[in-house]
Amino acid sequence: MTAKLIMGKEIAAEIREEIKQEVEKLKAEKGVIPGLVTILVGENPASQSYVRAKQQTAHELGYYSVQENQPADIAEADLLKLVEQYNNDPQIHGILVQLPLPQHINETKVLYAMNPDKDVDGFHPVNVGRMVIGEPTYLPCTPYGVQQMLVRSGVQIEGAEVVVVGRSNIVGKPVANILLQKAAGANATVTICHTRTRDMAAHTRRADILIVAAGKPKAITAEMVKPGAVVIDVGVNETGRTADGKRKLCGDVDFEGVKEVASAITPVPGGVGPMTITMLMLNTLAAAKRAGG
Ligand code: NAP
Repeated sequence: MTAKLIMGKEIAAEIREEIKQEVEKLKAEKGVIPGLVTILVGENPASQSYVRAKQQTAHELGYYSVQENQPADIAEADLLKLVEQYNNDPQIHGILVQLPLPQHINETKVLYAMNPDKDVDGFHPVNVGRMVIGEPTYLPCTPYGVQQMLVRSGVQIEGAEVVVVGRSNIVGKPVANILLQKAAGANATVTICHTRTRDMAAHTRRADILIVAAGKPKAITAEMVKPGAVVIDVGVNETGRTADGKRKLCGDVDFEGVKEVASAITPVPGGVGPMTITMLMLNTLAAAKRAGG
């Protein structure tokens, strides 16, 4: 068997088209333009490139977008003031502080300073709580993207055995919570594995849907996958550079081996990656709709 590819790139493009139409409607009917500020502290090249991509997408979708570049030595108090400024700015519906922050700044404090209604990354504890109890909220972008990839690819989630490898606060725990909810696009039976799990393969081999976010290249091999399973590889690992300096990437799944066993699989790159920014834009649109009535 050779698995069908689940292409995040294509699904993300489809969602962006839907967003564009919604933005036009919101402008015409309510006079509201979704507003997003991205706050970058310091000059970490990876963070710069993530923020650039977010700004570019916001621009393409017709959002009002602001880029805040702050020096690496900004005082924590000044960063907190900046967040407060955007909490009170009616043109801004979503605030994104690009992580990681420099060592002298307490990330938790910055996260807590944000108005949860503008936390379009979905990491504020109030929003995490809302997600867990199944209230409307902003779902964290990568896990939300994984759910949308499954839903839009027609994968049966309800009643499925889902196994998640990884329990981080940004991917593993939220994706497990999202798919566990008593709701459409969820209702799965979920198991979470981590480095202290005994006999991980015994769990992964039970999975109808296997979601891997371990940050370990090729941690999942063909014999760990049930024939016909759907495999979502969240991992992004750099394996080197091409002659022209571009990053060479691989996922957490041994793609070549697993694609012969699975019924569907996401590639790396081109799989989960492109979904994340799109879900950030969808959350910002939702924030604008809430604010605009
Ligand atoms: P993380 O914070 O390092 O967490 C990794 C998790 O995987 C931990 O819970 C760890 O267990 C578990 N783990 C590691 N090796 C394992 C193994 N051999 N067996 C079982 N469990 C194992 O990583 P993360 O932030 O969740 O990210 C995971 C991957 O997704 C990374 O490659 C990252 O680059 C990628 N990612 C991609 C996107 C995207 O947009 N596509 C977004 C976010 C992250 P313990 O808790 O026991 O240590």
